[in-house]
Amino acid sequence: VYGATWDDVDYYRFEKDVHDLRRGTVLIPGLEVIHEFPHLPRILHLARGLAANLDRPFHVEEKLDGYNVRILWARGRTLAFTRGGYVCPFATDRLPDFPAVLRFVERHPRLVLCAEIAGPGNPYNLERTPHVREDIGLFAFDLQEQGTGKLLPPDEKYRLLDEAEVPSVRRFGTFRPDEAARLHEVVAGIDAEGGEGVVLKPPDGSVGVKYVGFGTNVRDLSVSANLVGSVPRAFVVNKLVQAAFCLHEWGPAPADAAAFAEACRRFGRAILEPLAGAIAAVEGDEDVDERYEVLLREEANADRLLRHLDRASTSVQVKLLDKRRVGDRWRVTFVKRYQRSSGLFRSRLLGASFVD
Ligand code: ATP
Repeated sequence: VYGATWDDVDYYRFEKDVHDLRRGTVLIPGLEVIHEFPHLPRILHLARGLAANLDRPFHVEEKLDGYNVRILWARGRTLAFTRGGYVCPFATDRLPDFPAVLRFVERHPRLVLCAEIAGPGNPYNLERTPHVREDIGLFAFDLQEQGTGKLLPPDEKYRLLDEAEVPSVRRFGTFRPDEAARLHEVVAGIDAEGGEGVVLKPPDGSVGVKYVGFGTNVRDLSVSANLVGSVPRAFVVNKLVQAAFCLHEWGPAPADAAAFAEACRRFGRAILEPLAGAIAAVEGDEDVDERYEVLLREEANADRLLRHLDRASTSVQVKLLDKRRVGDRWRVTFVKRYQRSSGLFRSRLLGASFVD
């Protein structure tokens, strides 16, 4: 458990599980415990996964690809916390762009508003969502009770979010566990738009399960295969297996030769193109890196953001390229350098031998 400070708010964050309190838990003196946002189990086979995990009709929401924040009212201000329990300098700076969110947490000081911040202007990942073409959007998906960590049942959550006009993830209504084919049409539609997938939520507010389509795995790989060495290898293997399960359940099957070959081509390209690009970059004496351009309201928060990103990982180095005033914002351009990935490719390019 580590102490940290944001302006005049002192807080404690759990970097590991301690008894019943999980990594990401936040303690703010004077407030009840802010629990972590729960991990959502994933299903790979939709029909069997529904049967095994859901015993009555459930709510279907879009799963958006961005990053998770928990937003709450603390000591007269609104703060947004990352999954790891840090105040997120980026989200906290930008919250005034979403006045309905500010009003909501001030009016409900015992709730935590869980939301995804998505779009090309987010500082954490290069994933793209079709719903935000520039800068960022904020989409609420859960309301969590302080003290208990319980999520509100979907009906109550929808009522509160809609009354307050808080921007939220898309909803697709309720489905029964025996309606895998109908649900797959929703997933295929999201996939065709370039979206991620769905989260299936029981009506009592208990933790649901997530399911994503073939295209998501392709896109995830295309932005991460070059980071092998820095991201866990299991990440890449998991995407591979997930994609194979999508094909197994929904096709195209290997017997459908032309369509199957096309899926394989798409998939292979998603892995090999970024990898080959990264090797070529290192050969050309560059590093494996990612470039970000984000907008902030306050200059001081730009510095806090870069420090926050830099401490997040010892092997990722954050370098500021440019910071300038654009209208009423600060536009900050920076790169994340993946030193482990660069090192791995560099040593191989130098001819180093190794035992697998
Ligand atoms: P884990 O679920 O184990 O934490 P992860 O951190 O890798 O996995 P994902 O696999 O992307 O995250 O899936 C979970 C995340 O999806 C949630 O933490 C949340 O930020 C995000 N999310 C997007 N849309 C929704 C939604 N409608 N309901 C719940 N979570 C959503």
